[in-house]
Amino acid sequence: MNYIQLEKLGEGTYATVYKGRSRMSNETVALKEIHLDAEEGTPSTAIREISLMKELRHTNIVRLHDVIHTESRLLLVFEFMEQDLKKYMDNHGNKGALDPATIRSFMFQLLKGTAFCHENRVLHRDLKPQNLLINRRGELKLADFGLARAFGIPVNTFSNEVVTLWYRAPDVLLGSRTYSTSIDVWSAGCIMAEMISGVPLFRGRDNNDQLNQILRVLGTPDEGTIERLRKDSPEIQPRPFPRMPKVPFSHLFPKAHPLAIDLLEKLLKFDPAQRISADEALRHPYFTTSHALQPTSGANANQAQAVRVA
Ligand code: ADP
Ligand code: MG
Repeated sequence: MNYIQLEKLGEGTYATVYKGRSRMSNETVALKEIHLDAEEGTPSTAIREISLMKELRHTNIVRLHDVIHTESRLLLVFEFMEQDLKKYMDNHGNKGALDPATIRSFMFQLLKGTAFCHENRVLHRDLKPQNLLINRRGELKLADFGLARAFGIPVNTFSNEVVTLWYRAPDVLLGSRTYSTSIDVWSAGCIMAEMISGVPLFRGRDNNDQLNQILRVLGTPDEGTIERLRKDSPEIQPRPFPRMPKVPFSHLFPKAHPLAIDLLEKLLKFDPAQRISADEALRHPYFTTSHALQPTSGANANQAQAVRVA
């Protein structure tokens, strides 16, 4: 093997990730070992998805350097990142909440990476803090790509991490199978809210509870919205919706800047057709106007710079 395997970095649903070092270049890397079913081997779709990811080159997408495929294991070699956003919030945040300048920098980079995927007809489908990686330079990159799609339901769950519903769009929760780019935008909105408050926005126990928590904040969608949704996705079963008023995001996050609230509203539209696109979101005044987001420390100044460079 061309890589030395070092300590374990993390464990997810489909894989175990180790720190590693290249014997050739001495470069630090992340080695992601995909758990394979001994009998089924590697599905060809997985191989196809991986080769696609090798082509997806962008500053805000974690770089896949190499794929090592033997009979018994599949090893993906990625650029090394210091930590994921979940751990970053635990370590740097004020009870998980990040400061406004960092949030703006991370959101910009998250949406940049997402817009690039969408331009290239790739849906991430599993955006959440654990799948966003941060390096020392304050760069944020999308990771754990298309694997959910490529591998389908994992044959073996090697960790007790449950597949989370918390970042899943309401149309998907309702049963829509017409996945589109808007599902990643919804997840990005949930992540933004979580960076603002330090806690996940909607923490459902199951599919139905997740939907109810969303309705409790967004309010019951009007008849027109539901009709249009069912027209676009006939697989959605008719169901009664409890009548609920909308709770404005400005009430939930009183300290957030009005422009941050405005972007959040547009990312978290119940109706996928009305949700802003990642590309449009990047042009929102939250990013383009120089409103006072007073960075509070040197680290933040660096991250603000990352916004301009990205
Ligand atoms: P899974 O599909 O099993 O969820 P991930 O790719 O999300 O696998 O990796 C699991 C965890 O390993 C991540 O949440 C992160 O903490 C860590 N990790 C993954 N890739 C890297 C990387 N390139 N650099 C550093 N840590 C990583
Ligand atoms: Mg993951």
